[in-house]
Amino acid sequence: MKQFGAILWLTGLSGAGKTTIAQGIAQELQKRNCLVEVLDGDIIRTHLCAGLGFSKQDRDTNVRRIDFVAELLSRNGVIAIVAAISPYREVREQLKKTSTNFVEVYVDAPLSVCEFRDVKGLYAKAKAGEIKHFTGISDPYEEPLNPEIICQTDKFTVEQCVKQVLDYLERQNLICALELVTK
Ligand code: ADP
Repeated sequence: MKQFGAILWLTGLSGAGKTTIAQGIAQELQKRNCLVEVLDGDIIRTHLCAGLGFSKQDRDTNVRRIDFVAELLSRNGVIAIVAAISPYREVREQLKKTSTNFVEVYVDAPLSVCEFRDVKGLYAKAKAGEIKHFTGISDPYEEPLNPEIICQTDKFTVEQCVKQVLDYLERQNLICALELVTK
């Protein structure tokens, strides 16, 4: 039985819940013996994409590099879970067309909720003008028009959002490949 992977691409505002949901999905998939890797935008920017800034061009380059790695993982049977703001629709649409098993997950929370959470204190800094090009404040976010999944993190719990994604993967037969392999 051939293993197969997928790219779960979580896009949304800072503080919307991408990292939290990505970790939750990874934990659940690991329990099911799936190969999983989380590619978190914040971490990727400290090495693979170190030196890239926040212009549209750099943001799109960031996204393409992450997708390149996700593809390598996915083609080797890994479910690659990407948590990255990835604010521009066009590049996300391109990736969706060119990647195999690309699942776009819109991690959706109103800007006001993200600002209120201000997990990393970045919204306060952006509003004070200390951070330029901050998505939602001084830089655009183009929400997906046809995402495979929308997780509304202001209405549902982390567990509910994680389950929503797992249910989708199950319906699409994108998990349990390894369980079949190892039995
Ligand atoms: P992002 O990665 O999108 O910047 P984080 O995952 O770092 O966002 O932070 C999201 C915050 O929102 C966390 O403090 C998390 O506990 C909280 N939160 C509340 N409800 C949810 C939910 N349903 N899904 C994800 N995060 C949630």
